[in-house]
Amino acid sequence: MTVVYPDEPTPLARAAEEHVSLARKVQSITSLPRPEQTRIFVVANQKGGVGKTTTTVNLAAAMAVKGLRILVIDLDPQGNTSTALDIEHSEGTPGVYEVLVEGESIGSVIQPCEAHESISVLPASIDLAGAEIELVSLVARETRLDKAVQSYLIESERAGDRFDYVFIDCPPSLGLLTVNALVAGREVIIPIQCEYYALEGLGQLLRNIELVKAHLNPRLEVSTILLTMYDGRTNLSSGVAQEVRRHFGDTVLKTAVPRSVRISEAPSYQQSVVTYDPSSSGALSYIEAAREIAEAATPLTEAAR
Ligand code: ADP
Ligand code: MG
Repeated sequence: MTVVYPDEPTPLARAAEEHVSLARKVQSITSLPRPEQTRIFVVANQKGGVGKTTTTVNLAAAMAVKGLRILVIDLDPQGNTSTALDIEHSEGTPGVYEVLVEGESIGSVIQPCEAHESISVLPASIDLAGAEIELVSLVARETRLDKAVQSYLIESERAGDRFDYVFIDCPPSLGLLTVNALVAGREVIIPIQCEYYALEGLGQLLRNIELVKAHLNPRLEVSTILLTMYDGRTNLSSGVAQEVRRHFGDTVLKTAVPRSVRISEAPSYQQSVVTYDPSSSGALSYIEAAREIAEAATPLTEAAR
C-alpha cells in the first residue's frame, strides 16, 4: 500500500513546527537591553476581557525573568493584576487609591512581588472603585498619578534603583482612572482580541488618546498593538489579525499571543504563565513579545536624536 503524504502540513503539524521554532528563538534570549530611560506603558482598551491584565502581568514577568526592573501599577478596582502577581489587596490594603485620592507616596504603599524580586507592585483594592467619583472634585484630578509616578521614579533612581519599565493596567472604561494612566504614560499598548467586534470601540479609545495628547500629555504615543487570543486554525482570527495589521502597520507586534488554556489557568495559581508553565506557547509568546518591545526603538529615543 502506498502512503500518500499531503503537500500541505496539517494545522496541527504547522502549530507544532511554529512552537519548536518559537521555543528555539526564546531560548536564545538570555537578557533584554535596558532602555536609556524608564519606559512607561499604559495597557489600555476600554473593552473588558481583551487581555489587558494578562498582558500586563506576563510582559512584566517576561521582562523580569530576562533581567529588567519593573513597576506594575494596578489601576483596575477589580485588582486582577494584584491577584495574578500574588499581592495582598484585600479591602483596606493601602494602594493606588491612597496615592490618587489621599496623596500618599507610591514608595509608602508599594509591595514586592515574591515570585520576581525585580517586580514591585502598586496594588488596587476594591476601595479604588470609589476613586472615579471622588477624583472629580479634587484639584489636578487628571495629573495625580503622573505626579506620584514621576516623583517615585526620581526617588528610586537617586537611591540607585532605576526602573526599566512601568506597566499601568487600566480598567475597562475611559473614565478618570484611565485618563490618569494616559497622562502618566508615554506609550500606549493596546491588546486586541482576535475576535469579531475586536475593532469596535477602538476609534473611541484612539480619540480619547488624541484628546489627552492634545491637552495634557503631548508625548503620548500608541507605540504597540498586541494581538491576543489568536487562533491560527480559524479564518476569523487570521482575518482580524490581517485587518489590524493593515490599519496599524508596524505598530502591531509580529508576535501574536495564542489562545491558550495555560494562560487562563495561571492566575488561579497566583502566577504568570511565564512561571506557571515556562515552556508553554503562551509563556514563549509573551517573552518574544517582550523582546520585540525591548529591542524596538522607543519614541523617546527617536525624539532624543
Ligand atoms: P482584561 O484585563 O482586558 O479584562 P484579561 O487579561 O483579564 O482581560 O483576560 C480576560 C480573560 O481571558 C481572563 O480569564 C484571562 O485569563 C483570559 N485570557 C487572556 N488571554 C488569554 C489567552 N491568550 N488565552 C486564553 N485565555 C486568555
Ligand atoms: Mg483587567
